[in-house]
Amino acid sequence: MDFPTRFDVIVIGGGHAGTEAALAAARMGSQTLLLTHNIETLGQMSCNPAIGGIGKSHLVKEIDALGGAMAQATDLAGIQFRVLNSRKGPAVRATRAQADRVLYKAAIRHTLENEPNLTLFQQAADDLIVENDQVIGVVSQTGIRFNAKTVVLTTGTFLGGVIHIGMQQHSGGRAGDAPANALAQRLRELPFNVGRLKTGTPPRIDARSVDFSVMQEQWGDNPAPVMSFIGSRDQHPEQVCCYVTRTTEQTHDIIRSGFDRSPMFAGNIEGVGPRYCPSIEDKVNRFADKDSHQIFVEPEGLTTHELYPNGISTSLPFDIQLAAVRSIPGFENAHITRPGYAIEYDYLNPQDLRHTLETKFIQGLYFAGQINGTTGYEEAGAQGLLAGINAALRAQEKSEWYPRRDEAYLGVLVDDLITMGTKEPYRMFTSRAEYRLILREDNADLRLTETGRKLGLVNDERWQKFSDKCEAIATERKRLESTRIHPATEAGERANAFLKQPMTRDHTLAELLRRPEIVYNHVAEIGAAQADDPVVAEQVEIEIKYEGYISRQEDEIERLRRNENTALPIDMDYDVIGGLSNEIKQKLKEVRPETVAQASRIQGVTPAAISQVLVHLKKRE
Ligand code: FAD
Repeated sequence: MDFPTRFDVIVIGGGHAGTEAALAAARMGSQTLLLTHNIETLGQMSCNPAIGGIGKSHLVKEIDALGGAMAQATDLAGIQFRVLNSRKGPAVRATRAQADRVLYKAAIRHTLENEPNLTLFQQAADDLIVENDQVIGVVSQTGIRFNAKTVVLTTGTFLGGVIHIGMQQHSGGRAGDAPANALAQRLRELPFNVGRLKTGTPPRIDARSVDFSVMQEQWGDNPAPVMSFIGSRDQHPEQVCCYVTRTTEQTHDIIRSGFDRSPMFAGNIEGVGPRYCPSIEDKVNRFADKDSHQIFVEPEGLTTHELYPNGISTSLPFDIQLAAVRSIPGFENAHITRPGYAIEYDYLNPQDLRHTLETKFIQGLYFAGQINGTTGYEEAGAQGLLAGINAALRAQEKSEWYPRRDEAYLGVLVDDLITMGTKEPYRMFTSRAEYRLILREDNADLRLTETGRKLGLVNDERWQKFSDKCEAIATERKRLESTRIHPATEAGERANAFLKQPMTRDHTLAELLRRPEIVYNHVAEIGAAQADDPVVAEQVEIEIKYEGYISRQEDEIERLRRNENTALPIDMDYDVIGGLSNEIKQKLKEVRPETVAQASRIQGVTPAAISQVLVHLKKRE
């Protein structure tokens, strides 16, 4: 049969993790197969049509800095853009975009279809071919055998997926899609720790049946921010308004009246749901003293009337959903186009993975996305990219790569997952990162694009733009550090007008910018030329203003790096190390940390235990 069945890398699943994994591997020159249930659902947003937000946009920008697709697709599909926390410090600022889900899918599919080295094939993967603890291929639903050096599994919520609406349940990967039961069964036969999680989605509403006049309008920022480092706001389609409404006491009464038929409360759902994105019945139950919850009413796109009511995810029976929705101001006559539902699915304990997302038990097999216990497109995309990179590196017999916690949120995400595991859907927050001031969304390219270029992920266009930006930042910094302003000059007078304490001696522009009351625009007014690109100006301002804090964090990181560089063998026999309690031995054996730093992050592993491990390690050498 003249049909390609031999690849370097096979990626199973064309969701957010799978598309980034396939694109990364192909961009690095590996012959890659993306095997997915349905080509029409490539890049489908299963839940809310939005990308980014606090902690999440950091991941999107890191994916972008490494040449990934998510940010560029967002610029082409975003119908409302905002910078969240814009009045707070740069570490926690985040970009969020409401996306048109049709445009988003089209952008992802276009990128995939035009990627050299990438083959798409629509079919379920039912089996993994494993020989001597090494994956060597995949068998599709109709029995086609595909061979590969490495395989990346990104099956999202599809493994053993069960959909719940009230007391009714049926198998499904998400509404409208079949589950992946054969593969789920196969994974349970392999030596992985499988658990169950759940997530949910709200009913969708026809905008023509909604009274927006009683809701609060919420427009995006003007000028609209841009998600990709190589994107521009000219790419954005038409921008639209979102609305805000609230649940009422009547809504809560209706919801409570359905508790006895709630699959969550009746015990039909065993999987744990996302703590930070609870269902409305969960919120009404847990926060009984609150008489109202906010709902963001978000359009699903430019060519549809469907609305996404963000905040009322539910798996209550349909009659309760309908009555509850109609008790909300503006939704009195609402027509529900799709019921809300919850889905339970298998996830694999991420403690069975290495920092590269390769499994510890089967070589060449990588897991990425929701199957690792995370929730969110951004978390999935970031993991997909990392797994795709390492699957390609392994196929090419090159050394692995992964970022440390002080280099990227992607490093924090993976290290958290593999070190601590997760018992509930894991989502990213800025508070999870200890080096927030260094890991900003605005400098993701400065942190990662050079590495991306070395890995073969960054094309010439991105590289040129990045190099020009670096040069402009360096030139402007130098100018600010070397331009001196004397108090008794016109420039000095201009400076004094902005300063709380007037100058008594001459100062460089950089010194003036360090004063809390001074921003870059003042400096531009005081001292002649300025960076005409606002992105460059922002970078220079942050670097100079926060220099002291940043260098303190860098010193701390340097100290930690020594432990990060001390590798621990995966087969280390912890039982023979003297002075370790049984509990600590057990924890180390469960996680099998790859570095001393990772070992020290395991809950309950004390500094004294780390010293014992180091002594033992020295003896082994
Ligand atoms: P997915 O996007 O699910 O993609 C998996 C892909 O793999 C699909 O294309 C599927 O067809 C394919 N596939 C699966 N099995 C096979 C197989 N055997 N062979 C071939 N192809 C296969 N996230 C949030 O951040 N907040 C929320 O509130 C939220 N709510 C959600 C509610 C619901 C009902 C669902 C379903 C998801 C929700 N999510 C939410 C999660 C979000 O959709 C996921 O985090 C994200 O899509 C995960 O990306 P992924 O690539 O891991 O998987």
